[in-house]
Amino acid sequence: MNKIKLFMKKYGYYCMVGLLVVALGVTIGIVAGTEDNKLVSNSADNPVISVTNPEVLSFTLPMENPSVVKDYSGTELMWNSTLAWWEAHEGMDLTSDNNMVFAIADGEVLSITEDSLEGTKVVIKHSNGLESVYGSLNSDLKIKQGDKVKKGDQIGTASDTAGNEQKTGAHLHFELIEDGNKIDPNNYLELEPK
Ligand SMILES: [Zn+2]
Repeated sequence: MNKIKLFMKKYGYYCMVGLLVVALGVTIGIVAGTEDNKLVSNSADNPVISVTNPEVLSFTLPMENPSVVKDYSGTELMWNSTLAWWEAHEGMDLTSDNNMVFAIADGEVLSITEDSLEGTKVVIKHSNGLESVYGSLNSDLKIKQGDKVKKGDQIGTASDTAGNEQKTGAHLHFELIEDGNKIDPNNYLELEPK
């Protein structure tokens, strides 16, 4: 006991200072912690802060009230009656009463090509790595390369210009490309077979 008393007499002052420093540190820690919590709850209450991708595309269908005459097959083989062979159908064949074809979202006309297999084909580039492809169109188009288009703008009319799908008659061969890969258009659109 005497040793402790002697120790406290000698070093008691330092012990008190030490305790004060620890107490101060804890207090600062608590205050800082409280402020952190406040910041977190503030940002959660304000959704504007948490929006990291402001580029939100909205979509419309490429035809008015379309019927799906041939579905997207991915890598699965489907019978092509025109060419009389099995092949992957990486798009959707659509028909509608008025045959009018529309841009599915805002974008820019990337290319217009004409060949005997795919007919007149328009590619529109959108944001977020998306491109929409409109094949088997009548060559009389409503747009030209480089045009900026808005969702729902008419591109042209569906026709039977695609030689590889001629037996389908007038239709739109529609494809959706995401980051260079042809994807199921139903990932973004609601096209139900009728
Ligand atoms: Zn097709």
